[in-house]
Amino acid sequence: MASSTAGNCCVCGHQTSQWCSKCSEGVDKDGNAAPTFYCGRECQAADYKDHSKGPCKAANARKQLYRGALLLQDLFYAYREIAFDLDMINVEVKNGRLHVRERAFDAAHSGPLFRFPNHLVACPKDKAALLTFGACGDGPGQMYELIKKVFQGIRHPDTEAIEAQHRVKKDHWRIIRTQGNGEVDRVDYRHEAIRVSLIDSESYILDLAGAQYAREWFTGPPNLGWRANHNKEVLEGKHDDMIATNYDFRVPQIQAELTKRMNTAVQQWEKANDKTLTLMLKEKRASFEANKDALIAAVTHEMRDYVDWTKTEVGVDSLNAAMDQMGLEERSKKPKSDADWFGMSEQTKDLLRKAKANRKDISFHYF
Ligand SMILES: [Zn+2]
Ligand SMILES: [Zn+2]
Repeated sequence: MASSTAGNCCVCGHQTSQWCSKCSEGVDKDGNAAPTFYCGRECQAADYKDHSKGPCKAANARKQLYRGALLLQDLFYAYREIAFDLDMINVEVKNGRLHVRERAFDAAHSGPLFRFPNHLVACPKDKAALLTFGACGDGPGQMYELIKKVFQGIRHPDTEAIEAQHRVKKDHWRIIRTQGNGEVDRVDYRHEAIRVSLIDSESYILDLAGAQYAREWFTGPPNLGWRANHNKEVLEGKHDDMIATNYDFRVPQIQAELTKRMNTAVQQWEKANDKTLTLMLKEKRASFEANKDALIAAVTHEMRDYVDWTKTEVGVDSLNAAMDQMGLEERSKKPKSDADWFGMSEQTKDLLRKAKANRKDISFHYF
């Protein structure tokens, strides 16, 4: 048993300052600390059978869920900052809304990614909102392998983490976006999140891009607050493609590669530290937090390396010329599905191969 602040023995009700050490950092459904108190060995022994398979296991599973969600959220922010695909020239708060203005889209003369406008955004909440703006699909899409990895052992074996969607009412929008062509974006978007079912049938929503709607809580049981609505409106299955006319098709190519880098960097970190992600999530809080920071730094480094490389080393001349040409070709045909979008034509593959042939030590994994 471990000692801490006082509570009531869950068997006899006497006040005590001892609790079960196995679930000392376990949490309840809302992610709050939930120690199980015992006045002494006798009461603990009497409750052992019920506790160890029930509340103790559940509290630790939720600990892994909430910590895993925190890790995924931080990784997602890091990923978005590196793979930022909006060219924002102005950001201001007016009447409780965040107004952003984009530069006119010009694929022929600009790269597909942009530096996040840190100089325009002072508030961390606004930064999170912009990092996740229009990126809800990237969470389930680009982070899917990591999501599965993080929840290993607690996810219901018959239930995959599923993509959940709901329609976001316009008046919920906190960000007002003026596109490069001067038009204000009025699209009624569907929002995507992940529903995670745990072994004991508890179900949670993991919303990595919730910050764009000023939602502070990115994970929690679906019976709380907005999640109640969310759950009601959840539509399972494939989402419609909503690719804006000014969308730069080069972005998903780079994102796909970044995802591979991210997954590889995580594997390398696990190997170097001789521990799996799930083990790291179960460790004592201080250890978990230190490891989380180190892991995010390692993964960020790997991703940044790649993006810097696409911006400089590759030679914007050869790669961008090829990609621009593909982009301009591809944009004239609207993709029908993700498969079409990611599946390049032979001609575009050829252009990439040529770009590749012009450089040494370049590996494309897109095809
Ligand atoms: Zn007792
Ligand atoms: Zn316990």
